[in-house]
Amino acid sequence: MRPKSRGRVRPVLGNDHSGAFEGPKEECGVFGVFAPEEDVAQLTYYGLFALQHRGQESAGMAVSNLERIMVFKDMGLVSQIFDQATLRSLQGRLAIGHTRYATTGASVWQNAQPTFRSVQGKGLALAHNGNITNTHELEEWLAELAPSEQHVSKQKAMDSTNDTTLITALIAAFPGQGIEDIAMTVLPRIKGAFCLTFMTETTLFAARDPQGVRPLVLGRLSNGWVVASETAALDLVGASFIREVEPGELLTIDEGGIRSRRFAEAKPKGCIFEYVYVARPDTTIAGSSVNAVRIRVGEKLAEECPAEADMVIPVPQSGIPSAVGFARASGIPYGQGLVKNNYVGRTFIEPSQTIRQLGIRLKLNPLREEIGGKRLVVVDDSIVRGNTQRALVRMLREAGAAEVHVRISSPPVEWPCFYGIDFSTRAELIAPGLTVDQICRSIGADSLGFVSLEGLTEATQVPAGNLCRACFDGNYPIAIPPAQAELLKLEKIT
Ligand code: AMP
Repeated sequence: MRPKSRGRVRPVLGNDHSGAFEGPKEECGVFGVFAPEEDVAQLTYYGLFALQHRGQESAGMAVSNLERIMVFKDMGLVSQIFDQATLRSLQGRLAIGHTRYATTGASVWQNAQPTFRSVQGKGLALAHNGNITNTHELEEWLAELAPSEQHVSKQKAMDSTNDTTLITALIAAFPGQGIEDIAMTVLPRIKGAFCLTFMTETTLFAARDPQGVRPLVLGRLSNGWVVASETAALDLVGASFIREVEPGELLTIDEGGIRSRRFAEAKPKGCIFEYVYVARPDTTIAGSSVNAVRIRVGEKLAEECPAEADMVIPVPQSGIPSAVGFARASGIPYGQGLVKNNYVGRTFIEPSQTIRQLGIRLKLNPLREEIGGKRLVVVDDSIVRGNTQRALVRMLREAGAAEVHVRISSPPVEWPCFYGIDFSTRAELIAPGLTVDQICRSIGADSLGFVSLEGLTEATQVPAGNLCRACFDGNYPIAIPPAQAELLKLEKIT
Protein backbone atom coordinates (compact mmCIF):
# COMPACT_ATOMS: atom_id res chain seq x y z
CA MET A 1 0.00 0.00 0.00
CA ARG A 2 1.36 3.40 -0.89
CA PRO A 3 1.47 6.05 1.77
CA LYS A 4 -0.45 9.16 0.90
CA SER A 5 1.64 11.82 -0.75
CA ARG A 6 0.75 14.64 1.66
CA GLY A 7 3.03 13.17 4.27
CA ARG A 8 5.89 12.83 1.83
CA VAL A 9 7.38 9.46 2.37
CA ARG A 10 11.12 9.47 2.21
CA PRO A 11 12.49 6.12 1.15
CA VAL A 12 16.15 5.64 1.94
CA LEU A 13 18.26 7.90 -0.23
CA GLY A 14 18.20 11.61 -0.61
CA ASN A 15 19.20 14.62 1.37
CA ASP A 16 16.80 17.17 2.58
CA HIS A 17 16.73 20.59 1.00
CA SER A 18 19.10 23.49 1.17
CA GLY A 19 18.78 26.58 3.32
CA ALA A 20 20.67 28.68 5.81
CA PHE A 21 21.77 27.15 9.08
CA GLU A 22 20.45 29.07 12.01
CA GLY A 23 19.34 26.52 14.52
CA PRO A 24 15.83 26.64 15.87
CA LYS A 25 15.62 25.72 19.50
CA GLU A 26 13.35 22.83 20.08
CA GLU A 27 11.11 21.57 22.79
CA CYS A 28 10.22 18.26 21.28
CA GLY A 29 9.27 14.70 22.00
CA VAL A 30 11.30 11.70 20.89
CA PHE A 31 10.37 8.05 20.73
CA GLY A 32 12.01 4.81 19.62
CA VAL A 33 10.96 1.17 19.54
CA PHE A 34 12.69 -2.09 18.70
CA ALA A 35 10.11 -4.86 18.63
CA PRO A 36 10.43 -7.17 15.61
CA GLU A 37 7.14 -8.94 16.31
CA GLU A 38 5.05 -5.83 16.92
CA ASP A 39 3.46 -3.24 14.66
CA VAL A 40 6.16 -0.67 15.39
CA ALA A 41 4.55 2.08 13.29
CA GLN A 42 1.36 1.79 15.32
CA LEU A 43 3.31 1.80 18.59
CA THR A 44 5.25 4.86 17.45
CA TYR A 45 2.00 6.56 16.52
CA TYR A 46 0.68 6.00 20.04
CA GLY A 47 3.98 7.05 21.54
CA LEU A 48 3.93 10.29 19.57
CA PHE A 49 0.32 10.83 20.48
CA ALA A 50 1.34 10.70 24.16
CA LEU A 51 4.14 13.18 23.43
CA GLN A 52 2.01 15.56 21.40
CA HIS A 53 2.18 18.21 24.16
CA ARG A 54 5.94 18.51 23.58
CA GLY A 55 5.51 19.72 20.02
CA GLN A 56 2.58 20.43 17.78
CA GLU A 57 4.10 21.91 14.66
CA SER A 58 5.21 18.77 12.93
CA ALA A 59 5.69 15.10 13.55
CA GLY A 60 7.19 12.12 11.85
CA MET A 61 8.50 8.64 12.10
CA ALA A 62 11.15 6.47 10.48
CA VAL A 63 10.41 2.76 10.21
CA SER A 64 12.77 0.00 9.13
CA ASN A 65 12.02 -3.54 8.08
CA LEU A 66 15.70 -4.38 8.74
CA GLU A 67 16.53 -3.68 5.09
CA ARG A 68 15.14 -0.29 4.27
CA ILE A 69 14.19 2.83 6.20
CA MET A 70 11.06 4.77 5.31
CA VAL A 71 10.58 8.26 6.73
CA PHE A 72 7.15 9.84 6.87
CA LYS A 73 6.80 13.32 8.29
CA ASP A 74 4.62 16.34 7.86
CA MET A 75 3.45 19.57 9.40
CA GLY A 76 0.62 19.33 11.93
CA LEU A 77 -0.60 17.13 14.73
CA VAL A 78 0.17 13.45 14.94
CA SER A 79 -3.49 12.56 14.37
CA GLN A 80 -3.61 14.78 11.26
CA ILE A 81 -0.45 13.37 9.74
CA PHE A 82 -0.97 9.66 10.14
CA ASP A 83 -3.99 7.61 9.23
CA GLN A 84 -4.43 3.86 9.26
CA ALA A 85 -3.49 3.46 5.59
CA THR A 86 -0.25 5.32 6.16
CA LEU A 87 0.57 3.33 9.26
CA ARG A 88 -0.17 0.05 7.48
CA SER A 89 2.23 1.05 4.74
CA LEU A 90 4.99 1.61 7.29
CA GLN A 91 5.65 -2.00 8.20
CA GLY A 92 8.84 -2.75 10.06
CA ARG A 93 10.74 -4.08 13.03
CA LEU A 94 12.09 -0.90 14.54
CA ALA A 95 11.13 2.76 14.43
CA ILE A 96 11.82 6.19 15.79
CA GLY A 97 9.44 9.14 16.01
CA HIS A 98 9.36 12.83 16.78
CA THR A 99 6.96 15.63 17.65
CA ARG A 100 8.37 19.06 17.02
CA TYR A 101 7.91 22.53 18.33
CA ALA A 102 10.41 24.96 16.80
CA THR A 103 10.77 27.94 19.05
CA THR A 104 12.54 30.12 16.52
CA GLY A 105 13.16 29.81 12.81
CA ALA A 106 11.02 28.40 10.13
CA SER A 107 8.30 25.95 10.88
CA VAL A 108 8.66 24.13 7.60
CA TRP A 109 8.57 20.60 6.33
CA GLN A 110 12.34 20.51 5.82
CA ASN A 111 12.79 20.99 9.55
CA ALA A 112 10.37 18.24 10.52
CA GLN A 113 11.99 15.15 11.96
CA PRO A 114 13.26 12.46 11.87
CA THR A 115 16.07 13.70 9.68
CA PHE A 116 17.43 11.22 7.21
CA ARG A 117 20.84 10.78 5.63
CA SER A 118 22.30 8.02 3.59
CA VAL A 119 25.78 6.72 4.30
CA GLN A 120 27.19 4.63 1.46
CA GLY A 121 23.79 3.32 0.52
CA LYS A 122 22.81 2.71 4.15
CA GLY A 123 20.30 4.80 6.02
CA LEU A 124 20.55 6.86 9.18
CA ALA A 125 17.44 8.47 10.66
CA LEU A 126 17.65 10.67 13.74
CA ALA A 127 15.29 12.57 16.06
CA HIS A 128 16.34 15.13 18.63
CA ASN A 129 14.90 16.95 21.63
CA GLY A 130 16.95 19.78 23.05
CA ASN A 131 19.24 22.47 21.77
CA ILE A 132 22.89 22.31 20.82
CA THR A 133 25.05 25.15 22.12
CA ASN A 134 28.26 24.57 20.13
CA THR A 135 26.93 24.34 16.60
CA HIS A 136 29.69 26.55 15.16
CA GLU A 137 32.38 24.29 16.55
CA LEU A 138 30.55 21.25 15.19
CA GLU A 139 30.16 22.86 11.77
CA GLU A 140 33.92 23.43 11.65
CA TRP A 141 34.54 19.86 12.72
CA LEU A 142 32.23 18.61 10.01
CA ALA A 143 34.06 20.69 7.39
CA GLU A 144 37.40 19.21 8.56
CA LEU A 145 36.10 15.68 8.65
CA ALA A 146 34.96 15.53 5.09
CA PRO A 147 35.97 18.66 3.20
CA SER A 148 35.67 17.08 -0.20
CA GLU A 149 32.78 14.73 0.23
CA GLN A 150 29.75 16.26 -1.31
CA HIS A 151 27.20 14.62 0.95
CA VAL A 152 28.75 16.04 4.08
CA SER A 153 29.93 19.38 2.74
CA LYS A 154 28.72 22.31 4.76
CA GLN A 155 26.31 23.39 2.08
CA LYS A 156 24.64 20.01 1.95
CA ALA A 157 24.78 19.44 5.67
CA MET A 158 22.87 22.61 6.25
CA ASP A 159 20.01 21.46 4.10
CA SER A 160 17.53 22.19 6.82
CA THR A 161 17.71 24.79 9.50
CA ASN A 162 18.00 22.73 12.62
CA ASP A 163 20.87 21.47 14.69
CA THR A 164 19.50 17.96 14.36
CA THR A 165 20.61 17.91 10.74
CA LEU A 166 24.10 18.82 11.87
CA ILE A 167 24.28 15.88 14.29
CA THR A 168 22.98 13.54 11.59
CA ALA A 169 25.57 14.87 9.13
CA LEU A 170 28.39 14.44 11.65
CA ILE A 171 27.48 10.84 12.35
CA ALA A 172 27.24 10.25 8.63
CA ALA A 173 30.71 11.75 8.13
CA PHE A 174 32.37 8.57 9.45
CA PRO A 175 31.30 6.07 6.83
CA GLY A 176 34.07 3.59 7.61
CA GLN A 177 33.00 2.59 11.11
CA GLY A 178 29.92 1.13 12.76
CA ILE A 179 27.38 3.70 13.90
CA GLU A 180 27.75 2.71 17.56
CA ASP A 181 31.48 3.54 17.54
CA ILE A 182 30.87 6.65 15.48
CA ALA A 183 28.33 7.84 18.03
CA MET A 184 30.88 7.24 20.80
CA THR A 185 33.23 9.59 18.92
CA VAL A 186 30.68 12.26 17.99
CA LEU A 187 28.50 12.46 21.11
CA PRO A 188 31.23 13.64 23.52
CA ARG A 189 31.87 16.62 21.23
CA ILE A 190 28.25 17.79 21.25
CA LYS A 191 27.45 20.40 23.90
CA GLY A 192 24.05 21.48 25.09
CA ALA A 193 20.87 19.56 25.69
CA PHE A 194 20.17 16.54 23.58
CA CYS A 195 18.00 13.49 23.83
CA LEU A 196 18.43 11.51 20.66
CA THR A 197 16.76 8.49 19.19
CA PHE A 198 18.37 7.29 15.98
CA MET A 199 18.47 4.19 13.87
CA THR A 200 20.04 2.35 11.03
CA GLU A 201 18.16 -0.35 9.13
CA THR A 202 18.88 -2.85 11.90
CA THR A 203 19.66 -1.01 15.10
CA LEU A 204 17.96 1.47 17.43
CA PHE A 205 20.06 3.93 19.44
CA ALA A 206 19.23 6.34 22.24
CA ALA A 207 21.52 8.92 23.80
CA ARG A 208 21.19 11.61 26.46
CA ASP A 209 23.50 14.54 27.07
CA PRO A 210 25.82 14.34 30.11
CA GLN A 211 23.66 16.81 32.04
CA GLY A 212 20.44 14.94 31.25
CA VAL A 213 18.72 18.29 30.79
CA ARG A 214 15.67 16.79 29.06
CA PRO A 215 14.05 13.55 30.19
CA LEU A 216 14.52 10.23 28.38
CA VAL A 217 13.39 6.84 29.63
CA LEU A 218 13.76 3.18 28.74
CA GLY A 219 10.82 0.80 28.79
CA ARG A 220 10.27 -2.89 28.15
CA LEU A 221 7.63 -4.55 26.02
CA SER A 222 7.10 -8.28 26.36
CA ASN A 223 9.14 -8.69 23.20
CA GLY A 224 10.98 -5.48 22.68
CA TRP A 225 12.28 -2.18 23.93
CA VAL A 226 10.98 1.37 23.93
CA VAL A 227 12.68 4.71 24.57
CA ALA A 228 10.66 7.87 25.02
CA SER A 229 10.90 11.42 26.30
CA GLU A 230 8.38 10.74 29.03
CA THR A 231 7.08 7.80 31.02
CA ALA A 232 3.54 8.75 29.93
CA ALA A 233 4.44 7.47 26.45
CA LEU A 234 5.57 4.14 27.91
CA ASP A 235 2.21 3.82 29.65
CA LEU A 236 0.29 4.36 26.45
CA VAL A 237 2.17 1.73 24.46
CA GLY A 238 1.98 -0.78 27.33
CA ALA A 239 5.69 -0.76 28.11
CA SER A 240 6.91 -1.10 31.66
CA PHE A 241 9.31 1.53 32.93
CA ILE A 242 12.81 0.11 33.36
CA ARG A 243 14.92 3.17 34.11
CA GLU A 244 15.98 6.56 32.85
CA VAL A 245 18.54 6.66 30.09
CA GLU A 246 21.50 7.91 32.12
CA PRO A 247 23.01 11.29 31.39
CA GLY A 248 26.03 10.60 29.13
CA GLU A 249 24.77 7.16 28.13
CA LEU A 250 24.39 5.60 24.69
CA LEU A 251 22.02 2.66 24.36
CA THR A 252 22.23 0.30 21.41
CA ILE A 253 19.35 -2.08 20.77
CA ASP A 254 19.31 -4.75 18.07
CA GLU A 255 18.55 -8.43 17.60
CA GLY A 256 21.44 -9.23 19.93
CA GLY A 257 19.74 -7.35 22.79
CA ILE A 258 20.50 -4.09 24.54
CA ARG A 259 23.96 -2.62 25.26
CA SER A 260 24.90 0.40 27.30
CA ARG A 261 28.03 2.52 26.84
CA ARG A 262 28.98 5.71 28.56
CA PHE A 263 30.28 8.46 26.28
CA ALA A 264 30.67 11.03 29.06
CA GLU A 265 30.58 11.24 32.81
CA ALA A 266 27.10 12.02 34.16
CA LYS A 267 26.75 15.54 35.60
CA PRO A 268 22.99 15.74 36.12
CA LYS A 269 21.31 19.09 35.60
CA GLY A 270 17.70 18.21 34.88
CA CYS A 271 15.52 21.06 33.63
CA ILE A 272 13.37 22.37 36.47
CA PHE A 273 10.88 23.78 33.96
CA GLU A 274 9.94 20.24 32.93
CA TYR A 275 8.34 19.93 36.39
CA VAL A 276 6.76 23.37 36.13
CA TYR A 277 5.20 23.17 32.71
CA VAL A 278 6.69 21.05 29.95
CA ALA A 279 6.15 17.46 31.07
CA ARG A 280 2.79 15.79 31.44
CA PRO A 281 1.55 15.48 35.03
CA ASP A 282 1.31 11.70 34.62
CA THR A 283 5.04 11.49 33.87
CA THR A 284 7.75 10.63 36.39
CA ILE A 285 11.12 12.36 36.16
CA ALA A 286 14.12 11.39 38.30
CA GLY A 287 11.81 9.37 40.52
CA SER A 288 9.36 12.22 41.17
CA SER A 289 5.81 12.21 39.85
CA VAL A 290 5.32 15.51 38.03
CA ASN A 291 1.77 15.74 39.33
CA ALA A 292 2.89 15.22 42.93
CA VAL A 293 5.61 17.86 42.50
CA ARG A 294 3.06 20.35 41.20
CA ILE A 295 0.70 19.67 44.11
CA ARG A 296 3.56 20.20 46.59
CA VAL A 297 4.47 23.46 44.85
CA GLY A 298 0.86 24.61 45.24
CA GLU A 299 1.04 23.84 48.96
CA LYS A 300 4.26 25.85 49.26
CA LEU A 301 2.69 28.68 47.30
CA ALA A 302 -0.19 28.83 49.79
CA GLU A 303 2.32 29.01 52.67
CA GLU A 304 4.53 31.59 51.02
CA CYS A 305 1.89 33.79 49.37
CA PRO A 306 -1.42 33.39 51.22
CA ALA A 307 -4.55 35.16 50.02
CA GLU A 308 -7.96 36.00 51.46
CA ALA A 309 -10.38 34.51 48.99
CA ASP A 310 -13.57 32.52 48.44
CA MET A 311 -12.40 30.08 45.82
CA VAL A 312 -9.19 28.71 44.28
CA ILE A 313 -9.41 28.11 40.55
CA PRO A 314 -6.76 26.67 38.25
CA VAL A 315 -5.84 27.86 34.81
CA PRO A 316 -6.47 24.57 33.03
CA GLN A 317 -4.70 22.28 32.35
CA SER A 318 -1.25 23.13 33.63
CA GLY A 319 -2.43 25.03 36.73
CA ILE A 320 -4.64 22.23 38.06
CA PRO A 321 -2.31 20.25 40.36
CA SER A 322 -0.86 23.38 41.99
CA ALA A 323 -4.35 24.81 42.49
CA VAL A 324 -5.30 21.55 44.21
CA GLY A 325 -2.24 21.93 46.45
CA PHE A 326 -3.02 25.58 47.14
CA ALA A 327 -6.62 24.80 48.09
CA ARG A 328 -5.55 21.90 50.28
CA ALA A 329 -2.98 23.94 52.19
CA SER A 330 -5.04 27.12 52.49
CA GLY A 331 -8.42 25.58 53.22
CA ILE A 332 -10.01 27.75 50.54
CA PRO A 333 -12.49 25.72 48.45
CA TYR A 334 -11.29 24.51 45.07
CA GLY A 335 -13.52 25.13 42.08
CA GLN A 336 -13.62 25.24 38.33
CA GLY A 337 -13.87 28.79 37.05
CA LEU A 338 -12.48 28.43 33.58
CA VAL A 339 -13.29 25.96 30.86
CA LYS A 340 -10.60 25.05 28.42
CA ASN A 341 -11.23 24.15 24.84
CA ASN A 342 -9.15 21.01 24.68
CA TYR A 343 -8.81 21.17 20.95
CA VAL A 344 -6.70 24.31 21.04
CA GLY A 345 -2.97 23.76 21.39
CA ARG A 346 -0.63 25.40 23.82
CA THR A 347 -0.67 29.15 23.31
CA PHE A 348 3.06 29.32 22.71
CA ILE A 349 2.79 26.98 19.82
CA GLU A 350 1.65 29.73 17.49
CA PRO A 351 4.67 31.76 16.55
CA SER A 352 3.10 35.16 15.96
CA GLN A 353 2.10 37.46 18.80
CA THR A 354 -1.31 38.23 17.29
CA ILE A 355 -2.25 34.59 17.02
CA ARG A 356 -0.91 33.95 20.50
CA GLN A 357 -3.21 36.61 21.95
CA LEU A 358 -6.15 35.33 19.99
CA GLY A 359 -5.16 31.86 21.19
CA ILE A 360 -5.76 32.83 24.82
CA ARG A 361 -9.34 33.86 24.06
CA LEU A 362 -9.88 30.77 21.96
CA LYS A 363 -8.61 28.58 24.71
CA LEU A 364 -10.34 29.65 27.92
CA ASN A 365 -13.89 30.69 28.77
CA PRO A 366 -15.08 31.69 32.27
CA LEU A 367 -17.93 30.00 34.15
CA ARG A 368 -19.82 33.14 35.15
CA GLU A 369 -22.18 31.50 37.63
CA GLU A 370 -19.23 29.99 39.51
CA ILE A 371 -17.06 33.05 39.79
CA GLY A 372 -19.58 35.91 39.89
CA GLY A 373 -19.09 38.08 43.00
CA LYS A 374 -16.28 35.88 44.35
CA ARG A 375 -12.77 36.69 45.47
CA LEU A 376 -10.67 34.34 43.39
CA VAL A 377 -7.21 32.85 43.74
CA VAL A 378 -6.17 31.97 40.19
CA VAL A 379 -3.30 29.48 40.02
CA ASP A 380 -1.17 29.12 36.91
CA ASP A 381 2.18 27.45 36.34
CA SER A 382 4.22 30.37 35.00
CA ILE A 383 4.32 33.92 33.77
CA VAL A 384 6.60 34.26 30.80
CA ARG A 385 5.57 37.17 28.61
CA GLY A 386 2.56 38.06 30.74
CA ASN A 387 0.00 37.81 27.94
CA THR A 388 -1.97 34.91 29.39
CA GLN A 389 -2.45 36.43 32.83
CA ARG A 390 -3.27 39.90 31.50
CA ALA A 391 -6.00 38.50 29.26
CA LEU A 392 -7.22 36.17 31.96
CA VAL A 393 -7.53 38.77 34.71
CA ARG A 394 -9.51 40.99 32.37
CA MET A 395 -11.73 38.09 31.36
CA LEU A 396 -12.42 37.08 34.98
CA ARG A 397 -13.29 40.63 35.99
CA GLU A 398 -15.63 40.98 33.02
CA ALA A 399 -17.26 37.73 34.11
CA GLY A 400 -18.03 39.21 37.53
CA ALA A 401 -15.13 38.19 39.79
CA ALA A 402 -14.96 40.51 42.81
CA GLU A 403 -11.17 40.16 43.22
CA VAL A 404 -8.49 38.33 41.27
CA HIS A 405 -5.42 37.14 43.19
CA VAL A 406 -2.92 35.51 40.86
CA ARG A 407 -0.62 32.84 42.29
CA ILE A 408 2.12 31.33 40.16
CA SER A 409 3.69 27.94 40.86
CA SER A 410 7.14 28.97 39.63
CA PRO A 411 9.37 31.99 40.27
CA PRO A 412 9.43 34.80 37.68
CA VAL A 413 11.12 33.68 34.45
CA GLU A 414 14.06 36.05 34.28
CA TRP A 415 16.50 34.43 31.87
CA PRO A 416 16.36 32.92 28.41
CA CYS A 417 16.71 29.18 27.92
CA PHE A 418 19.43 27.90 25.59
CA TYR A 419 18.67 24.26 26.20
CA GLY A 420 15.44 23.77 24.35
CA ILE A 421 12.67 25.95 25.75
CA ASP A 422 11.22 28.96 24.08
CA PHE A 423 12.53 31.93 26.03
CA SER A 424 15.22 33.06 23.68
CA THR A 425 15.84 36.67 24.73
CA ARG A 426 15.38 38.59 27.96
CA ALA A 427 13.52 41.28 26.06
CA GLU A 428 10.51 39.05 25.47
CA LEU A 429 10.11 38.22 29.17
CA ILE A 430 7.99 40.38 31.44
CA ALA A 431 9.90 39.83 34.70
CA PRO A 432 13.40 41.28 34.08
CA GLY A 433 13.65 44.75 35.56
CA LEU A 434 10.18 44.67 37.15
CA THR A 435 9.23 44.09 40.77
CA VAL A 436 6.43 41.67 41.59
CA ASP A 437 4.21 44.70 42.30
CA GLN A 438 4.97 46.14 38.88
CA ILE A 439 4.19 42.82 37.19
CA CYS A 440 0.98 42.70 39.21
CA ARG A 441 -0.01 46.13 37.92
CA SER A 442 0.93 45.16 34.39
CA ILE A 443 -1.40 42.15 34.42
CA GLY A 444 -4.10 44.07 36.33
CA ALA A 445 -4.47 41.66 39.27
CA ASP A 446 -5.43 42.58 42.84
CA SER A 447 -2.40 40.71 44.12
CA LEU A 448 0.29 38.51 42.69
CA GLY A 449 2.55 35.91 44.27
CA PHE A 450 5.24 33.60 42.88
CA VAL A 451 6.56 30.54 44.70
CA SER A 452 10.20 30.92 45.71
CA LEU A 453 12.94 29.08 43.85
CA GLU A 454 13.80 27.26 47.08
CA GLY A 455 10.16 26.23 47.49
CA LEU A 456 9.95 24.94 43.94
CA THR A 457 13.25 23.11 44.20
CA GLU A 458 12.27 21.47 47.46
CA ALA A 459 9.02 20.28 45.89
CA THR A 460 10.89 18.47 43.11
CA GLN A 461 12.78 16.43 45.75
CA VAL A 462 15.82 16.66 43.46
CA PRO A 463 18.95 18.22 44.99
CA ALA A 464 19.39 21.81 43.77
CA GLY A 465 22.85 20.90 42.43
CA ASN A 466 21.29 18.35 40.07
CA LEU A 467 18.90 20.82 38.47
CA CYS A 468 19.21 23.41 35.73
CA ARG A 469 17.38 26.46 37.09
CA ALA A 470 18.91 28.95 34.68
CA CYS A 471 15.58 30.46 33.57
CA PHE A 472 15.03 31.55 37.16
CA ASP A 473 18.53 32.30 38.46
CA GLY A 474 20.65 32.90 35.35
CA ASN A 475 23.22 30.22 36.29
CA TYR A 476 23.81 28.33 33.07
CA PRO A 477 25.29 24.89 33.74
CA ILE A 478 26.45 24.40 30.13
CA ALA A 479 28.42 27.12 28.34
CA ILE A 480 26.10 29.12 26.12
CA PRO A 481 27.13 30.20 22.61
CA PRO A 482 29.44 33.25 22.64
CA ALA A 483 27.06 35.41 20.57
CA GLN A 484 24.22 34.70 22.96
CA ALA A 485 26.44 35.39 25.95
CA GLU A 486 27.30 38.79 24.43
CA LEU A 487 23.65 39.56 23.86
CA LEU A 488 22.83 38.59 27.43
CA LYS A 489 25.54 40.89 28.73
CA LEU A 490 23.97 43.74 26.78
CA GLU A 491 20.50 42.84 27.96
CA LYS A 492 21.73 42.75 31.55
CA ILE A 493 23.18 46.22 31.23
CA THR A 494 20.21 47.81 29.53
P1 AMP B 1 2.75 34.14 28.94
O1 AMP B 1 1.40 34.44 28.44
O2 AMP B 1 3.80 34.50 27.94
O3 AMP B 1 3.06 34.71 30.28
O4 AMP B 1 2.87 32.57 29.06
C1 AMP B 1 2.55 31.88 30.20
C2 AMP B 1 1.62 30.75 29.87
O5 AMP B 1 2.16 29.93 28.84
C3 AMP B 1 1.40 29.88 31.07
O6 AMP B 1 0.00 29.78 31.23
C4 AMP B 1 1.99 28.53 30.74
O7 AMP B 1 1.06 27.52 30.97
C5 AMP B 1 2.35 28.60 29.27
N1 AMP B 1 3.78 28.30 29.04
C6 AMP B 1 4.81 28.48 29.84
N2 AMP B 1 5.96 28.08 29.26
C7 AMP B 1 5.66 27.61 28.05
C8 AMP B 1 6.40 27.04 26.97
N3 AMP B 1 7.71 26.87 27.03
N4 AMP B 1 5.73 26.67 25.88
C9 AMP B 1 4.42 26.84 25.80
N5 AMP B 1 3.66 27.38 26.77
C10 AMP B 1 4.26 27.76 27.89
